[in-house]
Amino acid sequence: MRIVLATGNTKKRAELERILDGVGVELVPLTELGLEGPEETGDTFAANALLKARAAAEASGLPALADDSGLEVDALNGEPGVRSARYAGPDADDEANNDKLMSELAGLPAEMRTGRFVCVAALVTPDGREWTTRGEMEGTITDEPHGDHGFGYDPYFVADGMGVTNAELEPEEKDLASHRGKAFRAMRIHVQELVAGGGS
Ligand code: IMP
Repeated sequence: MRIVLATGNTKKRAELERILDGVGVELVPLTELGLEGPEETGDTFAANALLKARAAAEASGLPALADDSGLEVDALNGEPGVRSARYAGPDADDEANNDKLMSELAGLPAEMRTGRFVCVAALVTPDGREWTTRGEMEGTITDEPHGDHGFGYDPYFVADGMGVTNAELEPEEKDLASHRGKAFRAMRIHVQELVAGGGS
């Protein structure tokens, strides 16, 4: 069965392909169908994940999987949250977002630099059935970057119990503990049911 993957982020896509490996679906990136994702106007991760999956299912006529994710920092009242990808501005890259995060947290002691990555996965069929699952990864934000795996805020995030940043973890180690890993492993069962029902 073909399922559209509603993300253009190639590193995120690689994580999702690893996590859903063996489910028996072909994940087709939205961009490969010549389609673009909608603007992320929701103010929760779930609203944005559903928005992306609904748009992809409608445009492609196939079941669609999407996720919305981000970093919630306690000292910043949950910011950057749903705005994580564009924290430093509409066209911000990872470096600009991390620079902004560092300036917002400058001088804050380690015990106050707590937060979490959150991911909501959404599966939507063209006939309107919808499922969402959620995963979180608690941790602390460092004041210096370490490691060169992963993406986004990974070089500055030490997950509880890990002792190294996400960017220092091997990809499979990150998947086991990550917000995205948890959300999509919970989603596997729904994808499997869909495959078993032949999509109906
Ligand atoms: P989305 O594509 O709208 O879900 O935006 C996700 C943004 O949140 C990314 O661009 C990153 O800035 C951040 N983010 C989400 N998950 C991760 C992760 O696993 N590591 C690092 N940054 C992440």
